[in-house]
Amino acid sequence: MEKYPIVAGNWKMHKTTTEGISFVQETVNMLLDIEKVTIIFGPPFTALFDLDVKSPFYLGAQNCHWESHGAFTGEISTDMLVDCGVDYVIVGHSERRHVFHETDDWINRKVHAVLNAGMTPILCIGEKLEDRESNETQSVLNSQLMQGLKGIDSLENIVLAYEPVWAIGTGKTASVAQVDETHNTIREELKKVYSEKESNTVPILYGGSVNPGNATELISVEGVDGFLIGGASLTSAPFTEIARKVEQHMKEKS
Ligand code: PEP
Repeated sequence: MEKYPIVAGNWKMHKTTTEGISFVQETVNMLLDIEKVTIIFGPPFTALFDLDVKSPFYLGAQNCHWESHGAFTGEISTDMLVDCGVDYVIVGHSERRHVFHETDDWINRKVHAVLNAGMTPILCIGEKLEDRESNETQSVLNSQLMQGLKGIDSLENIVLAYEPVWAIGTGKTASVAQVDETHNTIREELKKVYSEKESNTVPILYGGSVNPGNATELISVEGVDGFLIGGASLTSAPFTEIARKVEQHMKEKS
């Protein structure tokens, strides 16, 4: 099956179910004729059950637990997400890593749990500003990547997202050169473990202050297969504009 570029919205802790339903209706209506782009809505858990979307629109959850059930107050299992019609789960988002102190081991367990439940993990990796300033970017990314994917034999059902922490919600975007270099190095690192083909084709999204003004130049970077979007995914106008820019890029490429 052909893999289309992905435009995924991470709503974080925004929108009630009622607000989510009307936002999704409005957005889908604005993108009814979108072609060759996969659109993922990532609402809070509460809205997932009442949202019903069809291809090319999908539901993504922002997190999950790795155990199937049990005494884990406040957590949610992959079966519960499947029951809500979820296809993608964001795993290892920088806010989960740095605000909630998730470890690479937990993140790896979540990647396994999501795959075992038949969903697709969107595994996020990203360096902090201090890592970049001390030339540690690549080692931080390699470590997050390889620990997150530990025990995973194939990249077939994996999506990766490169999200520099300093670019998330800050209005600062990584430059085209930085994104180009980083996506390339991620693929080179993957080739140490996975086949050339899988390493070259696993979707790697870019995330970090993507907006309609920078979407075209970022999607034009070889090796960028779409976006994970926070702020600009909360209102239909910028979110759909970004999706259209990705669609336009696909049309020009083919
Ligand atoms: C994110 O939350 O994953 C993100 C990239 O946020 P923003 O687009 O607001 O930087």
